Amino acid sequence: MIVTINPATEEVLAEYPAMSHGDINAALNAAYLDFTRWRHVSMPERARLMLRVAELLRERKAEYGALATREMGKPFAQAAAEVEKSAWVCDFYAAHAEEYLKPEAIDMDGGKGMVVFEPLGLVLGVMPWNFPYWQVFRFAVPALMAGNGVIVKHAPNVTGCAAAIEQVFRDAGFPDNIYRTLHIELQDVDRLTGVVIEHPFIKAVSVTGSTAAGRAVAARAGRALKRSVMELGGNDPYIVLDDADLEKAVTVCAASRLLNSGQSCIAAKRFIVHRSIRSRFEEMLLERMLGAKTGDPFDPATEVGPIARADLREGVHHQVEESVRAGAKLLCGGAIPDGKGYFYPPTILADVKKGMVAYGEEIFGPVATVIEAADDDEAVAIANDSEYGLGSAVFSADPVRAASIASRLETGNCFINAMVKSDPRLPFGGVKQSGYGRELSSYGIKEFTNIKSLCFS
Ligand code: NDP
Repeated sequence: MIVTINPATEEVLAEYPAMSHGDINAALNAAYLDFTRWRHVSMPERARLMLRVAELLRERKAEYGALATREMGKPFAQAAAEVEKSAWVCDFYAAHAEEYLKPEAIDMDGGKGMVVFEPLGLVLGVMPWNFPYWQVFRFAVPALMAGNGVIVKHAPNVTGCAAAIEQVFRDAGFPDNIYRTLHIELQDVDRLTGVVIEHPFIKAVSVTGSTAAGRAVAARAGRALKRSVMELGGNDPYIVLDDADLEKAVTVCAASRLLNSGQSCIAAKRFIVHRSIRSRFEEMLLERMLGAKTGDPFDPATEVGPIARADLREGVHHQVEESVRAGAKLLCGGAIPDGKGYFYPPTILADVKKGMVAYGEEIFGPVATVIEAADDDEAVAIANDSEYGLGSAVFSADPVRAASIASRLETGNCFINAMVKSDPRLPFGGVKQSGYGRELSSYGIKEFTNIKSLCFS
């Protein structure tokens, strides 16, 4: 049985029967049957159905938003915005999939070559709870538009959201089984997900989640020689240079660190600040973090909701305690509040140095880490001194200086004077332990196609 719990109140929300091996096989068989027809459905028809999904998401924004808030605790306005963003990716690929997958003609010494993009089959998504809709839609929408079937193993704590997504595709008129959710219990996740990966109908896997989950799934996919895309953890550096607009930098840094109660792979996690402005940056950040209201995620004034699960809050607190023990200076927060709910206060760790937990590990909560850098070169060296390489940001009044730093960062993206975001128009993904492959844009939709060459002599 899968049990969902409201992290703001600790109340049990619902219980869902977990699927057996037999149930999973039946779902895969049904999905495969639908795939054999879906792959021949025309692009305009796929687009029509996808636009209907977008419409339904917008109609159900309040309902689906509230469901996510209850299941994983994000403030309701952020949950509703996430549903809206999910509708956007449906609109986006409805408009662009045909152009992205248009056959390409190649001139070949008098003969003619052609590159076509064919679907692979069923694609498995192993998905996390932190953006329970967006993470799924940004993977599933391009995969479906390319003619694949989609199977999702979602995180158990957002099983209601998982069921809602499956329903919205059916309600929009997609074949009943072209998008299927597998309800797998925590204690069975390794075994049953392994069975699914090895199933002959599954041709590829996409994971969004921790590096540990990615490593486990990628190893299995590798053994079975199935293609995989890994969108994993991050420890994003935000470099603040001495000529930055400090007011703007602090506002963006705090917003990025607090979004989704700090539980985002691309949240700002390490603030690498020039020595000459470090103490002013800390003062301003402190004011901002202390002013962020923590509490009931349904209260419109709330900026920071609870952490999604009790064990995750324990983990965050342990990382903070370990860092303080190693010499980091606690400027605010750092204590588990009394009362119900898995709340954790906005926290700042200053004087963070190499070797401390807060320097090297991803902290998945509202905890800002400030690291001082003497100059641009040291800022780049610290930023790259990480096993992760997902996102990064640079704040400077000088675009040439910022661009030069951006070109030296070992990350999948770099935003200048702005918060890192995933956007359907830009490829998204990381390097190093943050994973491989790309989601979104024209690059994302091609990940799950057979790029086939045709040659006519
Ligand atoms: P996980 O990465 O463990 O979970 C994400 C998904 O992967 C879930 O569906 C999970 O299923 C699944 N999964 C985990 N291990 C395996 C496995 N061996 N085989 C198959 N599937 C697996 O995240 P957690 O919820 O445990 O969060 C822990 C940490 O992960 C966070 O502190 C954060 O660092 C990171 N994280 C990063 C995210 C990102 O966007 N990059 C998103 C979420 C978490 P199940 O829950 O059933 O184990």
